[in-house]
Amino acid sequence: MNKKKKIKLFRLVMSKLEKKYPEALPIKRTDPLDQLLTSIIHFDSLPEKARLALELLRKEFVDWNEVRVSAVSEMAAVLREAGLEEDRARLLKSALTHLFLKKNQLSLDFMKNYPEKQASEFLARFEGLHPSIVDEVLLLSLGFQRFPLNEKTQRVCERLGWVDDSDEAGAARTMSAVIPKTLKGKAYVLLKAHAEETCKTKAPACPSCVLQSDCLYYAMKQASPKGRPGDKPVSTVEIRGRSGRARRNGLRSSRS
Ligand code: SF4
Repeated sequence: MNKKKKIKLFRLVMSKLEKKYPEALPIKRTDPLDQLLTSIIHFDSLPEKARLALELLRKEFVDWNEVRVSAVSEMAAVLREAGLEEDRARLLKSALTHLFLKKNQLSLDFMKNYPEKQASEFLARFEGLHPSIVDEVLLLSLGFQRFPLNEKTQRVCERLGWVDDSDEAGAARTMSAVIPKTLKGKAYVLLKAHAEETCKTKAPACPSCVLQSDCLYYAMKQASPKGRPGDKPVSTVEIRGRSGRARRNGLRSSRS
């Protein structure tokens, strides 16, 4: 599909998703440190499991400082629900330690005065953060137009046929060319809502999906003599594996 066609299709898909998920907009602004730590816990995890893990973490630890000074094993026990608990615990501790050493505080509020480049560079110096985590903080907490390409958004983009499975960096470049700068945030929250509520990893609800007529995966399933949409996804994202990718790379990215 050429770029012009992709952009046209992108706008059509956005208008359908906006009607389907009106609660996703406007984008709700979050506290930057809370967002950073929440994004680490949600990365490559099922939303409901990540929510449970975060709830438990907030219940078991008094504040982020207690998390910072606690043993990785203690945190990992609390984060088990979200999976990859050792990696997540290590990353949380390292992010909080880095911030404390650099700024002698556990807040990222000072970033609210940073221009985009400075904020992006500051976050990029946190060890081991996937670029989508950095982009989530920049978008959701600081209001910069970014499109976090994580497992969820990439899954939907692949199934729609917008990107192939070549590599994350290639997919990020493709989506960056297709999505107009001013619509990056909107595209992210709508595609994420769709990934979580309809286009799920293992059982996409294709029969009731508003994007059927725009979806390559659906068309392929219709054309296939075996199976029906929703039976068993064959997305390359699924084949690579949600936890498989994260286990190979820690919580890092092939783009980092
Ligand atoms: S038709 Fe199925 S695979 Fe395509 S976007 Fe909808 S839920 Fe996802």
